[in-house]
Amino acid sequence: MTNDTPSPQDFRFKAEIKQLLDILVHSLYKERDIFLRELISNASDALTRLHFESLTNNEIFDAGAELAIHVDVVKNEDENAPKQIVIRDSGLGMTREELIENLGTIAQSGAKAFLQQVKAANASNAGEIIGQFGVGFYSVFMVASEVRVVSRSYKPDAAAAAWVSTGDDSFHVEAADKPNRGTEIFITLRPDAAEYANEWKLNQIIKTHSDYVSFPIYVGEKQANQQESLWRKNPSEVAAEDYKKFYQQLTMDFADPLATIHATADAPVNVRMLLFVPTKREKPILAARKEPGVKLYTRNVMIQEYCPDLLPKWLDFVDGVVDSEDLPLNVSRETVQNTRLMRQLAKTVRGRVLRELKRVAEKEPEKYTPFWNEFGRILKEGLVTDMEAKEEILPLLRFHTSHTPTDLASLDNYVERMAEGQEVIYYVLGDSLESVQHSPHLDPFKSRKLEVLYLIDPLDPFMTPVLNEYKGKPLKNVDDAELTLPESEDAAAEEPPAADTLPDKLFNQLVGRCVTTLGDRVTEVRPSKLLKGSPVRLVSPENEANRDMQRIYRLLDKEFTLPKKILELNRTHPIITNLARLVEDTPSAPIINLTIEQLFDSALVQEGIHPNPTAMLPRIQHLLELATSNGQSTP
Ligand code: ADP
Ligand code: MG
Repeated sequence: MTNDTPSPQDFRFKAEIKQLLDILVHSLYKERDIFLRELISNASDALTRLHFESLTNNEIFDAGAELAIHVDVVKNEDENAPKQIVIRDSGLGMTREELIENLGTIAQSGAKAFLQQVKAANASNAGEIIGQFGVGFYSVFMVASEVRVVSRSYKPDAAAAAWVSTGDDSFHVEAADKPNRGTEIFITLRPDAAEYANEWKLNQIIKTHSDYVSFPIYVGEKQANQQESLWRKNPSEVAAEDYKKFYQQLTMDFADPLATIHATADAPVNVRMLLFVPTKREKPILAARKEPGVKLYTRNVMIQEYCPDLLPKWLDFVDGVVDSEDLPLNVSRETVQNTRLMRQLAKTVRGRVLRELKRVAEKEPEKYTPFWNEFGRILKEGLVTDMEAKEEILPLLRFHTSHTPTDLASLDNYVERMAEGQEVIYYVLGDSLESVQHSPHLDPFKSRKLEVLYLIDPLDPFMTPVLNEYKGKPLKNVDDAELTLPESEDAAAEEPPAADTLPDKLFNQLVGRCVTTLGDRVTEVRPSKLLKGSPVRLVSPENEANRDMQRIYRLLDKEFTLPKKILELNRTHPIITNLARLVEDTPSAPIINLTIEQLFDSALVQEGIHPNPTAMLPRIQHLLELATSNGQSTP
């Protein structure tokens, strides 16, 4: 077979890799310890992949080898020779072609992203973040003057090969001798990195960065990582610091998680879980986790790296591990999916996560508020898409309300504050806190001190059809035409002074004028029983379908046909009384129609459904002209 052996060959690194190496080789980073974490993480990946391969493949080279990682200091008689260390694993190894591709020529979008990030962050945390960009291997050049990777694939007829580079612009590939499966990385340390040729130091780094790698890591003869999975321990034996470290190793997220859920149960299924709710929705760029899903283990052996079936899709921001002894060892993903056992597991896991969110929401509002700001929309999405979760999500919702415009309130807060005899939860839809606070719909609520939920998120209209009631109390939009409210306490004070009362005849005349001016843009014009400080409002006819969704259609710029609404006039408002008198005295005054049009347009804006508010500007200008010229003529 010797004549088949490919001859040694030199390659150039891709341009981005070359730049990356330049940065790594020529700068001295204080956190260069992490090169070891990156190489161990690659070794651990290779071992995991070998494990999966062995579940379905009988043709594995060196099948009996222990799945482990070794880190050794290379002994050298010559004190002055450069120091060397070697990292070995019995993972799935690489063929010659894979060495070339994986460690040098593959198109590296990650390298580009990494370079950008390093430039933006002034390069100070390059080592810390490199693993997030899928180029972690190259971090070895922070400490190495030469790296020699010798690998033998698990494929029975692949020959061993070696990859060598000094971290300049090229690498070299040649045939090699390696009797066993896996990868060995010989690192010749730069003089300024000689400190790494020290077992104590290597142990320290492994403890800090790789303690929970699920394969044994030996330094010399002794195992350096504790390996025993944290989630299989008794929660009372685990220190907060351990959880944090585990979370960082698992996710590469260096912020503390919002919640850590460590729980065990034996019935109805055996399960141990260690799950984390992150504080940020955005994962670190190319974070450790490449797909949604938690890690699924049975008896400490990973059977699925990303199991998406244990949590509903909307909860896929949760990271962590689920381990169940009831799952058979040696199962493939297909056999695990859709079993009764999985459904039970999923129910337990999801219940536990939602319970924890509820606990934080109730007991730790200072933590929950930022969580809500970050993930609130995901919960709303859950409410709309996951009928099963409705009851559990409702208590997690938060709103600004007319009672707490700057703080957030829960539906429970609202219900507790409901006035005696109040049977309905009221909400107003709007585009912003500003606009709903000035909504004419709120007039009667203000005078009756009735609380109104402010639904000001663009997603809220999607939610209202699902959110139709809470704890037996129906939710109603304040623009509901049939809304009847309890008598206001100061009902007497609400009666306008007799002198201001508009005679029915004048009022009806104005109503008629509105109808002819607005035509079929409104279904009806009528007096309002509820308005106080505002001249008009638009209410929705009872039978109008999907009216909360109209706001969305407008936002999406879908073919939006303006919904027809009822225009209500406030008989006691000066604009209305003035206008009615004007209709009586000078019916041909141009200002009458202009004002009616403007009142109608303003109401549409207020509702958040005006198709094109800037179209009002010429009319406003016209009105201002009339108003100012009038101002001059009256001394
Ligand atoms: P990442 O691990 O994010 O893919 P790296 O730069 O750390 O990026 O590694 C590049 C690739 O090299 C890996 O995806 C893998 O295919 C290969 N590789 C690195 N180390 C090993 C190893 N010890 N065993 C097998 N393959 C390896
Ligand atoms: Mg890696």
